Amino acid sequence: MSTPQTKRLEKLGLFTPKDILYYAPKSYEDRRRLPKIYQLKTGETQTLLGSITHLSETNPRPKISILKAVIKDDTGTCIAIWFNQAYLKKIMKIGTKILIKGKCDINAYSAEKEITVISTDFILSAEDTLKNINCIVPNYLLTQGLYPGQYRNLVQATLDKYLPSIVDPLPISLRQTYDLIPLRTALTHIHFPETEQDLTLARKRLVFDEFFFFQLTLASHYTNRKIQETSIPLTTKSPLIDHYKTQIPYTLTNAQQQAIKDVENDVSQPIAMNRLLQGDVGSGKTDVAVMALLFAINSQKKGVIMAPTEILAVQHYLKFKTYFDLHNIPVYLLKGGLKKKEKEALLNLIKQDDPCIIVGTHALIQATVEITHLGLAVIDEQHRFGVMQRLALKQKGLMPHCLFMTATPIPRTLLITSFGDLDKSIINEMPPGRTPPKTYFFKESSLASVYGYCRDELAKDYQIYIVYPLVEESEKLDLTSAIEGWTDLQKNIFPEHTIGLIHGRLTPQEKSDIMAKFKQKEIPILVATTVIEVGIDVPNATIMIIHHAERFGLSQLHQLRGRIGRGAGESRCFLIGDPKTTNAKQRVKAMLATANGFKIAEYDLEIRGPGDMLGTRQSGLPDFNLAHLIRDEAILIQARKAAIDLIESDPQLEHPHHQAIKHIQKEKQLRTLSIQQSTLN
Ligand code: ADP
Ligand code: MG
Repeated sequence: MSTPQTKRLEKLGLFTPKDILYYAPKSYEDRRRLPKIYQLKTGETQTLLGSITHLSETNPRPKISILKAVIKDDTGTCIAIWFNQAYLKKIMKIGTKILIKGKCDINAYSAEKEITVISTDFILSAEDTLKNINCIVPNYLLTQGLYPGQYRNLVQATLDKYLPSIVDPLPISLRQTYDLIPLRTALTHIHFPETEQDLTLARKRLVFDEFFFFQLTLASHYTNRKIQETSIPLTTKSPLIDHYKTQIPYTLTNAQQQAIKDVENDVSQPIAMNRLLQGDVGSGKTDVAVMALLFAINSQKKGVIMAPTEILAVQHYLKFKTYFDLHNIPVYLLKGGLKKKEKEALLNLIKQDDPCIIVGTHALIQATVEITHLGLAVIDEQHRFGVMQRLALKQKGLMPHCLFMTATPIPRTLLITSFGDLDKSIINEMPPGRTPPKTYFFKESSLASVYGYCRDELAKDYQIYIVYPLVEESEKLDLTSAIEGWTDLQKNIFPEHTIGLIHGRLTPQEKSDIMAKFKQKEIPILVATTVIEVGIDVPNATIMIIHHAERFGLSQLHQLRGRIGRGAGESRCFLIGDPKTTNAKQRVKAMLATANGFKIAEYDLEIRGPGDMLGTRQSGLPDFNLAHLIRDEAILIQARKAAIDLIESDPQLEHPHHQAIKHIQKEKQLRTLSIQQSTLN
């Protein structure tokens, strides 16, 4: 039956006794050493124990009540004041012992110590004394009508009644390995710790459990897939590969070589590769992709690379053509907007059995596109694709080997949660000879000096990007700001230079023409919307100005900045704007603090939280209750290891000691099913 009380609990998401046991306090108050009245410090929020010696109420205006009490302990007296809490009168009597918490000030007239009370506990019984004094008291996030003292009693009653029925799912051996206290102790101490140590250990145990069961699902999925997703091994050794390697115009970095080795090992197996290649913008992921595609060609199969934008697909296509023409390997570009005849001819070519490379955009995954003998698929800038799109590409072939590439750095904690079932390679070094860009922040009023600096760089023959924001709600507005900016720059600021303008409304042909001109230095300044965010590579561009920087997300800013700092010249990124919200200020601060993509990603995770960061659909994370992805990284790593070891030793969880784990996992699996579908490809 639903009473007002249960309704209030339900509002907090508390439906069962178990929910109450797992609803952790939001903070704790240490009442082990309370100050005496003579020790109260002005300006600080403190908790005081005393008894009431005098009580009065005034109503300066209708509906406004001020309760005033004189409180006494064995060192003196002070005044306590309650605003609009007249109902407390019913409990307060002369002589009542109370605990009050609030800020202490000195009254300007009477010079007495005065506490404005924010929370009150009455000590009416021996039990109240036990629960409230000389202990650490939990504070919960409660809803109106639920009082702290009353709720704490409910928690205690629930513990007394239900704790004995709680079964600890973790076998003792596992608990010993990871120094975990029993679950019942943890559930008691998370509410009523006697010491800080109690609390730390309780938290550790509960956080471990949260991570452990999530990791267990990932680990068993990973193991099962290795069994089920059989694929055709590719040949990675041949004169073609050797020859290709010798003609790369630079030495691959160690990280690139390692990533290529990882791919080589994967595709040599009769199990489909599922590898995530992570590397900051400009770290040279394309070379890894090219090698991977060559392995497919080498095995008389086709290789596909899918890019999120047409500019990027065209750029890949042109680059790949120069590589592969030398070896007589055909490269096809499949994009939207082809004429019917062109498209039919192309689709026909792709349908043939001959090995080839196909570069494309989303157009690749349309139902009409039939790719036979697909050996390997590369998905570039994978975070830009919806999960379903990735899935659709995979289904084009019989479990092709898949390489997912991303320049959006994913912090380690997210990697082992959200992407926990993929194998990973990380390119963590930049090709030599790069100078990371320096970043500055200016208000719009200082633009003149920024433009002055631009003039010097232009005189040295360097090039400049000027970016205007994408206004999500209105593409029109977005365009207006870029076009207005462009007009102003061309007319009033840099009349002596040609300024290009590129934005999402141009046809792909127009876009690639402008990019080509910029690349060939025919255009020294390029005004752009975020269309240049991904993959564009013009090493001679050394300046980027980003207008209204506060309107961009952090990873977007980082991606944009990744367009410069690609050559030997020193480059500079100017963020222009007027951040007002705390988040916007934090984003700008993060950009000024570091050019390291991994650090940026951690800031992003901190500022936005994991769900937002990858888009909820992609993050695929359950709502952790106590666990915090950054703070609890150490526990996460332990829980992951425990989960992997367990699945390795007992893949189907058949051992009698693992039955409780199996049971909980099954329960959770229903909930995680949707997550599975959104993260796992
Ligand atoms: P991203 O990882 O962002 O896709 P790219 O593969 O586009 O990076 O590489 C960026 C630029 O760096 C390209 O011009 C590429 O030719 C160059 N590059 C890649 N690897 C190296 C290397 N080991 N040494 C020198 N230049 C490299
Ligand atoms: Mg790239």
